[in-house]
Amino acid sequence: MSILRFKAVEEASKRMPVEVKVPEQLPSEYYGTYVFNRTQMSKYLSKETMNIVLEAIDRGTTLHRGIAEHVAAGMKMWAIEMGATHYTHWFQPLTEGTAEKHDSFVDYENGPGGNIIERFSGKLLAQQEPDASSFPSGGIRNTFEARGYTAWDPSSPAFIIDDTLCIPTVFISYTGEALDYKTPLLKALSAVDKASVEVCKLFYPDVRKVYSFLGWEQEYFLVDQALYSARPDLSLTDRTLMGHESAKNQQLEDHYFGAIPPRVASFMREVEYEAYKYGIPLKTRHNEVAPNQFELAPIFGETNLAVDQNLLVMTLMRRIAPKHHFKLLLHEKPFAGVNGSGKHCNWSLCTDTGIGLFTPGKTAHENLLFVTFLVNTLMAVYKHNGLLKSSIMSASNAHRLGANEAPPAIISVFLGKQISGVLDKIEQSSQDDDITVDELRLMKLGVAHIPEVLIDNTDRNRTSPFAFTGNRFEFRAVGSSANCSSAMIALNSVMAAQLIDFKKEIDAKTGSGMKTEEAIFDTLRHYIRECKPIRFEGNGYSDEWKEEAKQRGLNCETSVPLIYNEYTREESVVMFESIGVLNEKELHARNEVKWEMYTKKIQIEARVLGDLSMNHIIPVATEYQSMLLDNIYKMHAVFDKEKANKLSKEDAALIEDIADHISAIKTNVDDMVEARKAANKLEDAYEKAVAYHDTVEPFLNVIRYHVDKLELIVDNQMWTLPKYRELLFIS
Ligand code: ADP
Ligand code: MG
Repeated sequence: MSILRFKAVEEASKRMPVEVKVPEQLPSEYYGTYVFNRTQMSKYLSKETMNIVLEAIDRGTTLHRGIAEHVAAGMKMWAIEMGATHYTHWFQPLTEGTAEKHDSFVDYENGPGGNIIERFSGKLLAQQEPDASSFPSGGIRNTFEARGYTAWDPSSPAFIIDDTLCIPTVFISYTGEALDYKTPLLKALSAVDKASVEVCKLFYPDVRKVYSFLGWEQEYFLVDQALYSARPDLSLTDRTLMGHESAKNQQLEDHYFGAIPPRVASFMREVEYEAYKYGIPLKTRHNEVAPNQFELAPIFGETNLAVDQNLLVMTLMRRIAPKHHFKLLLHEKPFAGVNGSGKHCNWSLCTDTGIGLFTPGKTAHENLLFVTFLVNTLMAVYKHNGLLKSSIMSASNAHRLGANEAPPAIISVFLGKQISGVLDKIEQSSQDDDITVDELRLMKLGVAHIPEVLIDNTDRNRTSPFAFTGNRFEFRAVGSSANCSSAMIALNSVMAAQLIDFKKEIDAKTGSGMKTEEAIFDTLRHYIRECKPIRFEGNGYSDEWKEEAKQRGLNCETSVPLIYNEYTREESVVMFESIGVLNEKELHARNEVKWEMYTKKIQIEARVLGDLSMNHIIPVATEYQSMLLDNIYKMHAVFDKEKANKLSKEDAALIEDIADHISAIKTNVDDMVEARKAANKLEDAYEKAVAYHDTVEPFLNVIRYHVDKLELIVDNQMWTLPKYRELLFIS
């Protein structure tokens, strides 16, 4: 009898919702109180300093050291009043999540031995030198030059967690290469801003800035803490490496939008309360398709800020879950046979004059601008579909993509009937055809009595990895545990490069006498034709699509280590370098890190599965097997041979089944260990990752198959690990 499993199940079944102490104030009354935002700045900074900082945030101007001194003084005063004793530069290394190293404000006033004061200078705010050698750099820093710097990002406000002032920063090497996600993200956002402004000026000369917006939808699983602790695979790898499907999982689809279990509702309330304190505008919460799966989403915002807020929310959720006796799972596929978790990234561009560049307009002029940005997006995604897939790929997300629940591992764009129709019209029109302008003006007339938003929201294709949803694109292939930056760097970069190409074409055409509008139409017409292969309105899950996508020349690679090569293809390097986002050295270095991470993930999973199979599963199966053998012996003691044989026929068959599965597990675990040894001998990060993918990973499924069969045979009372039916139902 396995004590641990049943104790855990009992503990979980007795849980009651944990009451959350939320003040009686409205969210608007405590919103953003833990963030050094504009409201706090206005209280703690002089008007002059504040204006310079805001100018830097809004217009991207450079901040001088002198200003950092003033900001640091105000920030320190605010932080100390809020109870902070420490500060940290908060950055996003290429591993998952965020990193921080805390220092206290305490310092000698005038050198060693004197008075102690609280000090926080402009220098400490602006720059730090954390011991960077333990963060992956893909070889950019060798051991002699292990230095890396963090530098303040004024566009994302500092915030306080517990007793620590956290300052969002970039993380770069001594020689200036990016070692993080934020550095290239800021560069990509600046590139897309500049390129978009140039194109917008063809329509509206007064546009000065274009913002990239991101609205993420975070999916996640919760499991009871006691059950989680009784599953070493979950504890060590964030996913179950074994476990037979529960007889009831999501077939009835009764979980999606169903009533939120009270324990979870209580958790969500606390997350929302905390998020509001950090100025994160959470808007939506609901159950997801799978049991124990949920989603939350804020109102969208500027991309850099939205990324930081997503990382902060993930941290808050991780911290709050244990208070409710939950463990938060952000893994893309914690349970086989039920849906995995993604993080849809809703993306749009908007001018400082308030024009949504993916929002259909009312006039022909507005709609030409809309179609211009729409078609350029199609072109960008078409040209770099492999790169975009590469930006969302990871060992864990690979389980989710292509699993008939999430987008396939092929990037295509869904537009919907209405928009497709408009593009078809433009494509078919001839150069001196006025009808296109009219079509644009009348774009929405066919259904004038229904508000446009309603149409777009119902015209949806859930199988598309990149779908137009009325006023934005929804990049759905992003994984739940990912830093959205990776996808946002790729997307905003390809868009920037594409818009620059477009503007060049227009300039060339107008330079040789063509009218601007004509030049735009002419170019769009060609683009629409060229990027047609990226448009797909059908069922992305179907096998036919996989075939067709191959014919169309779209990237269909599914091996994670191979997909990363997209980053260092010539087209990608040229694209990233031309807009100054990442150089070739950085791109190679970042791939090294990704390959290493991939290898480590599979390595850990292989070890854990090997251990669990040998130490948990086989001993229990053998014990049950000997019980059955014992039974046969006893049959023979009581009955004559013929009757005993007849009565124990089923037991004998089971004994053979168990023996077969045990033997298969042992052989495969041995072979997997050998494959690992061979792979470990490879020095090259890429070759090692490929070896892990091709020769180690396949064993995980094979071993699991036999373990799951044993789970169905072995006496339930003897099975040591909580089963799916126990893990996946929160009362
Ligand atoms: P659904 O689940 O139907 O996709 P949700 O309401 O859960 O819709 O999420 C939609 C997300 O898209 C929200 O985060 C929302 O803020 C965001 N969003 C809405 N409009 C835009 C836009 N113009 N740009 C970027 N994100 C947007
Ligand atoms: Mg969505």
